[in-house]
Amino acid sequence: MSGPAGSSGSLRRYRIVVLGDGGVGKSALTLQYVQHNFIDYHDPTIEDAYQQRTVIDSEPCLLDILDTAGQVEFTAMREQYMRCGEGFIICYSITERHSFNEAVEYRNLITKVRASEDVPVILVANKVDLEATMRSVDTREGEDLAEKFGCPFYETSAAHRRHVDDVFHTLVREIRKRS
Ligand code: GDP
Ligand code: MG
Repeated sequence: MSGPAGSSGSLRRYRIVVLGDGGVGKSALTLQYVQHNFIDYHDPTIEDAYQQRTVIDSEPCLLDILDTAGQVEFTAMREQYMRCGEGFIICYSITERHSFNEAVEYRNLITKVRASEDVPVILVANKVDLEATMRSVDTREGEDLAEKFGCPFYETSAAHRRHVDDVFHTLVREIRKRS
């Protein structure tokens, strides 16, 4: 194995951080993306990293995904991964108004740590499979917030695997645009 193109060492890595209020489905989205199944229960206190090899627009790459846990607080550990992350997925649940409000706080934290507005971000409204009975945040509100953030927006369902790949792959494209 000598050709750089064939060795895994040459794979471009993308460091992705998944943020959002507890219970919005960060772990469900991450595990659905990586393992192709819906995890009904995942310990909310567990923060874990996953790796996924994939090909996006003909470029083979390795996604390093950090599925975070905990509150939107400015701890040393949070600051560390906000500095190291190249792209961020900010999630809320369409069933929880509070999680939508918190999305703004996550975005503010990223902007503060990076001292920049131009950080690759995707805004994600999860649990859209529950919209018939439990929606409390309208699509339009999500779209408007994403426009304020200047970032792409998806309504997803980790349960139905709706737009899950789109979220991760669009984020990689946002990172590429800036590098
Ligand atoms: P986290 O705290 O943000 O990591 O949230 P989890 O991924 O642990 O999900 C919290 C709860 O919401 C779990 O019971 C999940 O099964 C559920 N959940 C996550 N995503 C969805 C979804 O897209 N649809 C539905 N109906 N439930 C979901
Ligand atoms: Mg979790």
